[in-house]
Amino acid sequence: MSRKQTGKVILAGAGPGDPELLTIKVARYLQQADVVLTDRLVSEDILKTYVRPEAELVYVGKQCRRGASTPQETINELLVEYAAKGKLVVRLKGGDVSIFSNILDELEVLAEHAIPYEIVPGVTAALGAAAYAGIPLTARTYTTAVRFLTYYKSDVVTDNYWKELAATNDTLVFYMSSETLDGVVANLTKHTISADKLLAVVEQATTPLQNVHVTNIYEYDQQLKGKKFISPSLVIIGKVVALHEQFRWLANSNSREDYFKPVAKLFTTITDHTEKVKDHVSRA
Ligand code: SAH
Repeated sequence: MSRKQTGKVILAGAGPGDPELLTIKVARYLQQADVVLTDRLVSEDILKTYVRPEAELVYVGKQCRRGASTPQETINELLVEYAAKGKLVVRLKGGDVSIFSNILDELEVLAEHAIPYEIVPGVTAALGAAAYAGIPLTARTYTTAVRFLTYYKSDVVTDNYWKELAATNDTLVFYMSSETLDGVVANLTKHTISADKLLAVVEQATTPLQNVHVTNIYEYDQQLKGKKFISPSLVIIGKVVALHEQFRWLANSNSREDYFKPVAKLFTTITDHTEKVKDHVSRA
């Protein structure tokens, strides 16, 4: 068997939306990349500005719960395939690479095939949303800690855990949970979370379409229950949410448009390499 030339994979975070929240390191790698495999939650502006025209741009969109998405297996195959051809591959993910992502699957595959890689962090949605909504997550005298959580897989959260979440003074940030928010609130109020903890939903944080909705958690049913939030949305719960009122520096856009393209549309906008992804999808 002839030994294949081995490229390299850069697992990189693109930040939460605002293209200027990209790190200089990732910008440099994008300028050098032969292939960029990108998630849905990456600003088009970043791709347009930094990816070389001759580089291959492959959308490996994922969207929880609804619509088309690229199976992880396909993404793994593409990483290996391109690296085996000696390419410099940037695997670009929204926010930070390691927060609520499938980085572990990709790391395992890279290790298994002895493909060299680097991990480059990004600004995770919680930090982007906190900054652009004026909600300092661990404001002194308010709290001493912050937790990044998700209620996407509802079955993994036990009643005891909810009890603890309702009791803690830590700021709670829920990713991928705007569609299950009624359940989050029901569980926290059931365990009598204190009424001075407010709840914020930050839609499309750090983009020109950012909207922040704040409510007292016990008034959630009247204020926000049943509302369809624009994806992506992040939920922040805690006393620090009260600081938004005083320190918000960005007005709500009040827009219902999407900043990021929904996955279903992505599949129709890409040309040749999308065909390749589609092939993989239909084979998977
Ligand atoms: N790796 C990403 C998170 C991926 S999970 C990161 O570090 O940010 C996807 C979830 O992240 C979304 O469901 C949403 O809860 C959150 N998210 C990502 N970008 C966001 C944004 N611009 N505004 C609000 N929430 C966002």
